[in-house]
Amino acid sequence: MSKKLNIEPINNWIKKESDPLIISGPCSAETYDQLFETCKQLKSHGISLMRAGVWKPRTRPGTFEGNGEDALKWISEIKKELDVQFAVEVANTNHIDLSLKYGIDILWIGARTTVNPFSVQEIADAIKGTDTPILVKNPINPDLSLWMGALERINKAGITKLGAIHRGFSMTGSSKYRYVPLWKIAIDLKSNLPNLPVICDPSHICGNRDMIFETSQKALDLGYDGLIIESHIDPDNAWSDAKQQVTPEVLSKMKSDLKVKSSNEDDKSYNHLLNEIRESIDEVDKEIVDIIAKRIGLVEKIGEFKKETDLTTFQVDRWNEIFKSRLDWAIEKGLDKDFIEDLYKVIHLGSINVQNKIINRKKANFKI
Ligand code: PEP
Ligand code: MN
Repeated sequence: MSKKLNIEPINNWIKKESDPLIISGPCSAETYDQLFETCKQLKSHGISLMRAGVWKPRTRPGTFEGNGEDALKWISEIKKELDVQFAVEVANTNHIDLSLKYGIDILWIGARTTVNPFSVQEIADAIKGTDTPILVKNPINPDLSLWMGALERINKAGITKLGAIHRGFSMTGSSKYRYVPLWKIAIDLKSNLPNLPVICDPSHICGNRDMIFETSQKALDLGYDGLIIESHIDPDNAWSDAKQQVTPEVLSKMKSDLKVKSSNEDDKSYNHLLNEIRESIDEVDKEIVDIIAKRIGLVEKIGEFKKETDLTTFQVDRWNEIFKSRLDWAIEKGLDKDFIEDLYKVIHLGSINVQNKIINRKKANFKI
């Protein structure tokens, strides 16, 4: 699916002062004092790559939409004063021109911009010929191609200091998350673009501060390259995203409690064991494919039978029975119920497709 992108390793363009890499700072730069104090405290906890919203993409008008150029002036003063770096969200040519004028170190493209190829192309054209690192947030909707397309546009403009931010997706229905993570999409991104740095944004995924630690740990366990976490000196009174911001102190505690596991498998004493387990998994997977082929063979027989007897492919009673008994078996084995439920929905849909093909093929033959 992917064209290979020309991407520099993240260590070339973000100084990693701690493991995990953490970018932090307020959702919005509200006042000089709020920004300065937050950054000062972060710096005292060993974090010197800050984030701050300068232009805020708010869903409804009439709410705080950022301080624009004034905030950039504060940032450029604070950069000198505290010797820190800043990442800022940009959405158009004007934002880029101003950010570069005030010496912003890293730019990111927000979720509401990644959805729009015209806007992403405008940004790509404006950034062409510069050496500015760019991070591309996932689009609001769960569309991997749109996310990859945005990364390709920026890379085609010659930006090689390029990474992605996973901030979750807007979904209908209720969820404990503000933006549902759908981890599989980020994993698919990584498998299409293995050299792409991917950073997790647990603040926007969770929408509340209580789940940030566990979500951050999950991202690290999945091999993410870093985290971007919103922090504020007075989170409850923040002008945007108040529920999900944490104090620099809480952030520092999280940073020391998070465990970074090694993704480098070379030269490890456990390599031998790991390979052995992987060989067994290969064997089991082969068995799974054989068993699926056997099941499809049986499904085909039923398809022929249904054709002869004019039965419909989908029979609700049989489906309910399959569903219930398989879930009972899975629970007995201590397996995750939701996982088996999803698996059987896919298997059942596959079976219906096979049967439909048989029935339609025979109808076509009959006509001839
Ligand atoms: C933000 O980072 O504050 C922001 C607006 O993010 P997103 O684009 O993920 O909504
Ligand atoms: Mn925010």
